[in-house]
Amino acid sequence: MDDNLKLAELLFPDVTETVDDLERRFPPRSLPQDAKVTRFAPSPTGFLHIGGLFSAFVDVLAAKSSGGISFLRIEDTDKKREIADGVSGIIEGFRAFGVGFDEGVTGFDTETGDYGPYVQSRRASIYHVVAKKLVQEGLAYPCFCTEDELSALREKQEAAGTLIKGYFGEWATCRNLTFAEQEARIKSGTPYVLRLRSSGDGTRKFTFDDQIRGKIEMPENITDAVLLKTDGIPTYHFAHACDDHFMRVTHVIRGDEWIASVPLHIALFRACGFRPVKYVHVAPVMKEENGGKRKLSKRKDPEAAVSYFVEEGFPKEAVLEYLLTLINSNFEDWRRANPAASLFDFPFSFKKMSQSGALFDLVKMQDVSKNVVSRMDGATVAQYTLEWARQYDPDFYAVISADTDYLRQVLSIDRGGAKPRKDIAVWSQVKDSVSYLFDALYTPDYTLPDNLSKADAAQILCAWDAVYDPADDKDEWFRKIKGLCEPLGYTPNVKEYKKNPDAYRGHVGDVSTVIRVATTGRRNTPDLHAIHSVLGEEKVRARVADAIAYYEQ
Ligand code: GLU
Repeated sequence: MDDNLKLAELLFPDVTETVDDLERRFPPRSLPQDAKVTRFAPSPTGFLHIGGLFSAFVDVLAAKSSGGISFLRIEDTDKKREIADGVSGIIEGFRAFGVGFDEGVTGFDTETGDYGPYVQSRRASIYHVVAKKLVQEGLAYPCFCTEDELSALREKQEAAGTLIKGYFGEWATCRNLTFAEQEARIKSGTPYVLRLRSSGDGTRKFTFDDQIRGKIEMPENITDAVLLKTDGIPTYHFAHACDDHFMRVTHVIRGDEWIASVPLHIALFRACGFRPVKYVHVAPVMKEENGGKRKLSKRKDPEAAVSYFVEEGFPKEAVLEYLLTLINSNFEDWRRANPAASLFDFPFSFKKMSQSGALFDLVKMQDVSKNVVSRMDGATVAQYTLEWARQYDPDFYAVISADTDYLRQVLSIDRGGAKPRKDIAVWSQVKDSVSYLFDALYTPDYTLPDNLSKADAAQILCAWDAVYDPADDKDEWFRKIKGLCEPLGYTPNVKEYKKNPDAYRGHVGDVSTVIRVATTGRRNTPDLHAIHSVLGEEKVRARVADAIAYYEQ
């Protein structure tokens, strides 16, 4: 037997499956020709960063818009970073935003799809099959160097001023051990890692076509990178090649910090005999600070955590809608032309993504959210508000859940027409916006504009109470308010008042302000006729009576 085969048996005595077996077990997917297969592959840190949601959303969009498949894979090979239950945190995060994958991990111990397992720590046998083949072909070898030996190597390279640092060429002392030496060390239990035997030439360049940045030219990889760590767990690099090949991924969408590793990754795909994937390197989400740009930081920016948007009560549709404005600059024009279309119908393109990092702007996000909420009907707003309040504002929840029909009427005021109200960006604002419609939340505020006295107000309210009829439609209701003006010394005509202010005590706006203040405690509200209809005659009359009593004191 040749030494490589002997070494492979020595290292992987239990591996009987072959790479060909794996090729058959995970056959190419039968999908339309240009369908994209994408994956989101977070480490289970429990923290879902807005950049993660951004990138996962790109995965889902790319797959959906091409008739492909997206899936969720958990990359838990870095045990140091793992936190308990990190997987559930991530999955909950996606669920809250309606980013749905077609396959992959669905819960702590559950998954769906034919290309799994979708958790890397459960794929050791797959990595070992590929590793064994590489050893058999002389493309990988065990390295017994200790941490101390590796730091000594680095120091020597520093001192010698070598251009490239790392384990390669003549520095790679374990590269040329004889089989007898390897066997002796393995049998004596010396720990080892498995390294790629690189055939790269540092003076040669290669190019790859990044789907966002276009052609990128880089020198070939020359280092004998680690494939399996001493515990047999793969490095990110090796797992990336094995997983994205056998899960039949077409487009790897990931952070641009991985661009520097592409030469190694291409070398690994080639060594393994796999066809390389297409790469889509996404720039990080940025924030403006002191006129400059910096990465959104988990430590400094609360909005870096996706949970922030849930707690604040941003509608999930608005978060995705806003992310899409960051993902593709032409999205807003498309939205204006297609106000009612689903986000997933947007003709998304990698080429329109920013190379330098999209700027995250909370104010802009609020505006997008106001527009999104303005397109919802009252029942939807009520449903979302109840869900949010149940968790984040139990007192408010107790008030609004007592009569959900009433809540729906309240939240339908000025919604559904041609010019819907745009005052709500987050569910936490609903309380303030509707408080005067609930006795339990209502605190009267009888403050009047400076041009009106308490006596004026009492007089207007008494006159209005005499003509108010809850059966009146909006026109009749307003006609009656106008009708009160002249007998009380006001004009129904605002222009007329402006021309000749000394001739009147005020105009129709003042009269309606008094009624508004008396019945809502505010000077600005949506349509007052609609508010009165929702409040009902009894409450309207009671509030008017209380106001009159206050002004007459
Ligand atoms: N697990 C890697 C990370 O969290 C994913 C990189 C990739 O998508 O390939 O950075």
